[in-house]
Amino acid sequence: MAERMLQFVRLSQAQPEKRDIAARRSDFGEIYREFAAEAASAQASRCSQCGVPFCSIHCPLNQNIPDWLKLTAEGRLEEAHEVNSATNTFPEICGRICPQDRLCEGNCVIEKGFESVTIGAVEKYINDTAWENGWVKPPSPRQEKPHSVGIIGAGPAGLATAERLRSRGWQVHVYDRYDRVGGLMIYGIPNFKLEKEVVLRRWKLFEAGGIHFHLNVAVGTDITVDELRAKHDAVFIATGVYKARDIEVPGSDLAGIVPALDYLTASNRDNLGDDVPTFASGALNAHGKRVVVLGGGDTAMDCVRTAIRQGASAVTCLYRRDKANMPGSMREVKNAEEEGVEFTWLAAPDAFAGHGKVEAVRATRMHLGLPDATGRQQVAAIPGSEFNIPCDLAIKALGFDAEDLPAMFNEPALAVTRWGTLKVDHRTMMTALPGVFAGGDIVRGASLVVWAIRDGRDAADQIEAYVTQKASALATAAE
Ligand code: FAD
Ligand code: SF4
Ligand code: SF4
Repeated sequence: MAERMLQFVRLSQAQPEKRDIAARRSDFGEIYREFAAEAASAQASRCSQCGVPFCSIHCPLNQNIPDWLKLTAEGRLEEAHEVNSATNTFPEICGRICPQDRLCEGNCVIEKGFESVTIGAVEKYINDTAWENGWVKPPSPRQEKPHSVGIIGAGPAGLATAERLRSRGWQVHVYDRYDRVGGLMIYGIPNFKLEKEVVLRRWKLFEAGGIHFHLNVAVGTDITVDELRAKHDAVFIATGVYKARDIEVPGSDLAGIVPALDYLTASNRDNLGDDVPTFASGALNAHGKRVVVLGGGDTAMDCVRTAIRQGASAVTCLYRRDKANMPGSMREVKNAEEEGVEFTWLAAPDAFAGHGKVEAVRATRMHLGLPDATGRQQVAAIPGSEFNIPCDLAIKALGFDAEDLPAMFNEPALAVTRWGTLKVDHRTMMTALPGVFAGGDIVRGASLVVWAIRDGRDAADQIEAYVTQKASALATAAE
């Protein structure tokens, strides 16, 4: 092993190449090229096979990363895929969109001094190769079981539960108010981070494995939670968080000020070939416009980079803290800078100006003060520092909160936290309603795909334990 691994001392870190910037700006294709086979194996061989692998500890799925890196270094890709996919429902997706700098790679021990192993890029490579070679198979239970589960939401949390229970022979029904499967992976995250074919092929695979999808079905409107509870042995709520945070300043009601998710969904639908009247009319299309995006998270980065690709004449990101304090991934900020986005740090909007439609964002410069109790530096306005940014389209990317689920589902007994997220017993993942479980963003608040997968997989285990225990208790009582 020693010869083949531990190569970080002589081999530098190399991420897959990025496409050239002009090409990136002109289409929605993913920006990273695939590793060549030799490069993937060489990069995997940089791993020092730590006895206590901090990469695994900081991966939300606690994957056996050193094992599949070693198999990749040895060219044993099919086995690498088997080990990797045993712990991750969507390894090819996590390889693309996990913020690795904050998770596995950010905690790789050789990061200090030698730069981490490129874990995400290797994970993507292993599993793209698996897809190309037909190694990725539909869930195929050895034996059908009578138990059935109703899953509300076809995002990564719902799908991870669906896949795990179906593999064990359960009858699985997924209900979603959208017309496609994938949740934010299909309508939120843009193509240049995650090409939609990667999500669509998983959908086909799940259908081939016998998972039933009921699309265009809004639970609470088209079917009630009570009806689902009567139909299924257990219900899993994985509805995500969709209430966009807003900003109340003078001029907020002018035309041309839009929520980020409406804007990104229109762009994703257009890329999927759908008829999108709000895109065609120009209301949600940045072409030829001066665009200002408010916010500094990953959603804001997706908006600025989408606007560049739509042919905006100028794109500015306005954020009230500085670059070092941005919540968004630094990798994405760098990509946005390369693609021509202007960042105006330390500035907050205080009004929109215009006649009927927005013509400028008025902002005030801020400075960072002392840290508060949470350790985060407070921001304060600098008096007399107001300035205008010309703007034809303002996009609000200020974060998301949970919708009022007890009201939407007409289930007042469904307990929520003070943030509106669903309250669950953290050991069993059950809500206040017996047999109704929940996970993903609707429990955590806006989070990550990899955490949604973790919740989905854990919930499948909890649901199975609950239903089998209940069935055996009933059988004992009947004896
Ligand atoms: P969702 O993916 O939101 O899926 C919920 C599903 O439930 C949806 O399909 C919805 O239609 C359905 N639903 C809701 N209500 C009902 C109802 N009443 N009836 C029926 N169906 C319903 N994470 C990363 O890890 N990396 C990234 O790069 C990244 N980029 C992001 C970019 C954007 C713009 C956004 C908004 C988020 C991003 N995230 C990213 C976060 C990630 O997408 C979410 O954390 C993850 O998708 C949450 O999964 P989920 O299954 O809990 O919910
Ligand atoms: Fe890293 Fe995400 Fe893969 Fe875990 S799932 S190893 S955090 S890229
Ligand atoms: Fe390999 Fe880095 Fe993980 Fe150690 S922390 S096992 S070097 S990837």
